[in-house]
Amino acid sequence: MLEQLDKDYVLNTYARNYVNFKRGENATLFDDKDNNYIDFTAGIGVVSVGHGNKQVADAIYEQVSNITHISNLYAIEPQALLAQKIAQLSGYDVATFFANSGAEANEGAIKIARKYGQTKFANKKYKVITLEHSFHGRTITTVRATGQDKFHSPNFSPYPEGFSYNKQINDIYNSIDEETVAVMIELVQGEGGVQPFEKEEIQKLAKFLKEKEVLFIIDEVQTGIFRSGEFLASNLYEIEPDIITIAKGLGGGVPIGAVLTKHKDIFSPGDHGSTFGGNYLVTRASLEVLKILDEYKNKGALDEAIIYFESKLSALFEKYPNIFISKVGLGLMRGLRAKDEATLAAIIKNAFEQGVLVLKSGRNTLRFLPVLTITKEEIDEGFKRLDDAISKI
Ligand SMILES: *Cc1c(COP(=O)(O)O)cnc(C)c1O
Repeated sequence: MLEQLDKDYVLNTYARNYVNFKRGENATLFDDKDNNYIDFTAGIGVVSVGHGNKQVADAIYEQVSNITHISNLYAIEPQALLAQKIAQLSGYDVATFFANSGAEANEGAIKIARKYGQTKFANKKYKVITLEHSFHGRTITTVRATGQDKFHSPNFSPYPEGFSYNKQINDIYNSIDEETVAVMIELVQGEGGVQPFEKEEIQKLAKFLKEKEVLFIIDEVQTGIFRSGEFLASNLYEIEPDIITIAKGLGGGVPIGAVLTKHKDIFSPGDHGSTFGGNYLVTRASLEVLKILDEYKNKGALDEAIIYFESKLSALFEKYPNIFISKVGLGLMRGLRAKDEATLAAIIKNAFEQGVLVLKSGRNTLRFLPVLTITKEEIDEGFKRLDDAISKI
């Protein structure tokens, strides 16, 4: 029924599984037949504080009972408080623009960089360098910024100019020219195989870019909001980027994206905007999400979850040396590289049948982006089911 409805009326852009989820409790989902599933995906890293979170639900209910939306023509108290909270948690002296998604946050980042290039340099710098295997979004510009050929279909051309890709961090040094305004990277490429970059190589690049007056943009749409174990992966790497984008985990499921920058004077009224961006609903929800996660981190529970998850992942990796070739990732952003694409597809399919949801990254990486508040029991149960799924291959 749902399958037919979806096929008849929703545009066909996703290769979907047909299951009808009705409710969730933290990292456990229940379908219409009351089958339960352990969710190791968190809606692709979005549902940071779990499904059916009562505290967030209450905050949203209270907010929308009063005001859901006004418009950005008036100051919005939860928006201002959220911007303050983001600055405090990041430890950076930044101001924030609120958008509705990761791609939109990256659009904002690129606009800030472009205006910086146009207004700060006589030769009007505009070029942006990104990396191969990156992912920055699905708008025409962010798809262009994404360093994966499969996204650059000629069906959507022409694409905006001024973007180029480097194979690795080390190649960036020679690619920068007089017109380069920014380098934009993820610290762990979420869609590109979950391989974290080395801290030293990132710090060295950050220092070089600063000397060259080239902006360093970190796309933390996936790595941000405690996914790495710190509020931002930039905190973990101990760098101070010029611009940072966040989205996925920020709202715990409500659509919100944000671009943070220390260059507070670049935008002026009229330069950028959004009808929905940062409205009462999403910023009130995000405030509650950050409150929960801040406490969760401070009492050591996040670190415990990371350590426990990693121990279970390692055990699985060691049990199947004929299936997995390496273990990648950090924090609660983890991956197991499968020996080939077909094996990975079989694992994901069997896992679903065993009642555990997992993701694919890149060509052959089994990806885990669990709810940050996942319990030990849920981790145990999820890995037990995954083990069963793999043993059937
Ligand atoms: C998901 C993601 C995006 C795009 O976010 P949307 O909300 O889907 O637009 C951009 N960058 C990274 C690193 C992502 O993981």
